[in-house]
Amino acid sequence: KRATLANDLLQKRSRFYATTVGGRSDRLEGKVALITGSASGIGKATAHEFVQHGAQVIIADNDTKLGPQVAKELGPSAHYTECDVTVEAQVAEAVNVAVAHYGKLDIMYNNAGIPGPSIPPSIVDLDLDEFDRVMRINIRGMIAGIKHAARVMIPVGSGSILCTSSISGVLGGLGPHPYTISKFTIPGVVKSLASELCKVGIRINCISPAPIPTPMVLAQIGKFYPGLTQEQIVGIVNGFGELKGAKCEDIDVAKAALYLASDEAKFISGQNLIVDGGFTSFKNLTF
Ligand code: NAD
Repeated sequence: KRATLANDLLQKRSRFYATTVGGRSDRLEGKVALITGSASGIGKATAHEFVQHGAQVIIADNDTKLGPQVAKELGPSAHYTECDVTVEAQVAEAVNVAVAHYGKLDIMYNNAGIPGPSIPPSIVDLDLDEFDRVMRINIRGMIAGIKHAARVMIPVGSGSILCTSSISGVLGGLGPHPYTISKFTIPGVVKSLASELCKVGIRINCISPAPIPTPMVLAQIGKFYPGLTQEQIVGIVNGFGELKGAKCEDIDVAKAALYLASDEAKFISGQNLIVDGGFTSFKNLTF
């Protein structure tokens, strides 16, 4: 009997490794996820990862060219819906599309975000309209996503909500004030809402990645250092962590999101998972 048990365990373990390390698994089997900002970068990588692990995904983005392309790449497990997160009605509609198309919503990943001004302005020169624009997308858009997801999750009594913060929300001085302030706000939102949502079976967490050479970051650094080649810019972003050649990739964030979205994280809420290879443990920077 003991041999059979040991054999079962070994088989289970090897199935786990075979299906999860770089491959497919059923970790999100039967789950429906909505990801904002999933036409590109981190959101796109996460959509791919979620589908690999069994989920059906709504690609919600205001990029009407790239969004449908991502959904097409992913086949019948994905559906694109146009969504500008600054327009609450469009966020509500994206949630409705998830329910109409796949029958429910288990995972809401509020990932859409913008970097704001590329040259860090001094507080004395801060353009408050620009500040409002960053906050409208990075914070108000995220809150709209949480609100409308909670409306469909609460009656069911379960759900996992994720948001993308940044190491710019862990250390000051890594970017322009509006972006930094918006990213520092996200773990606060998560704490505040976790206290309400845990009572109704919903978890909420955020992820804080180190710089990754996504289109957003490449464009931002390109404006900051005009004249550099794309290769040089990628080198700056990848050199950020000084971590023995290790660099942050969108898949690292997607893997963190996979874990937090899945039932494996069923007792984790109100947390900020920092994906930085240890960077914020030993470094502070000021521009
Ligand atoms: P990206 O530019 O590759 O992707 C951002 C996506 O958001 C795009 O598809 C864009 O169309 C979409 N978007 C922008 N405004 C929108 C709006 N109003 N409504 C709906 N969609 C909108 O950038 P990324 O690097 O993948 O960034 C994704 C998130 O990760 C952002 O919140 C960003 O702040 C955060 N982040 C990025 C990094 C990094 O180094 N790349 C590090 C930490 C945190």
